[in-house]
Amino acid sequence: MTARDLGKLSRLGIIRVEEIEAGMETWLSSTDRQLLAKALSVEPRVLLEVEARPNLEESVAQRLERESLGEAILEGARDLECPECGGTLKCSIQEGYDIEGKPVAFAKAFCVSCPFVLR
Ligand SMILES: [Zn+2]
Repeated sequence: MTARDLGKLSRLGIIRVEEIEAGMETWLSSTDRQLLAKALSVEPRVLLEVEARPNLEESVAQRLERESLGEAILEGARDLECPECGGTLKCSIQEGYDIEGKPVAFAKAFCVSCPFVLR
């Protein structure tokens, strides 16, 4: 599969796929990763593990934890604990629009006891 095919299939566009392949873009958003994984017929988790994270200390485990936290918030959970310190999280959902103008919801949370923020 070429970058062009992949760009088309994943709807990310050829330029972004080329940038991702060239390592210019090494940090995919959850949505982009899902699109790419679908185009490649692999699990999003596979991509997550091969994504380069040169300047970020965040581990795959921490990232998955944040993502599942986000999903829980979007599903209506409000009694969540901070993954960093176990303190109380203030959770909310922010409505927005994606690049195609479709409405999307973003999970937001911050910890009352430490600097942890989910956005
Ligand atoms: Zn905390």
